Amino acid sequence: AYVVLENCIKCKYMDCVEVCPVDCFYEGENMLVIHPDECIDCGVCEPECPAEAIKPDTEQGIEQWIQLNAEMAQSW
Ligand code: SF4
Repeated sequence: AYVVLENCIKCKYMDCVEVCPVDCFYEGENMLVIHPDECIDCGVCEPECPAEAIKPDTEQGIEQWIQLNAEMAQSW
């Protein structure tokens, strides 16, 4: 799955939400998050993010963001 990172905080763009084919973005407390079980790994959101806040969960060192996305998305 793809993951939303810190750069999303206070970003006002919603381009990622519009391009996602499965609507798996959810609103967290101060940022968007991606539901890990709904994301189909298509990758179209990553280049759409002007804040470069979206990365695949294979990226090194983002464990805390992977966990946060899962927690906030599943609380919906
Ligand atoms: Fe949605 Fe594709 Fe981005 Fe996953 S990778 S959040 S399915 S646009």
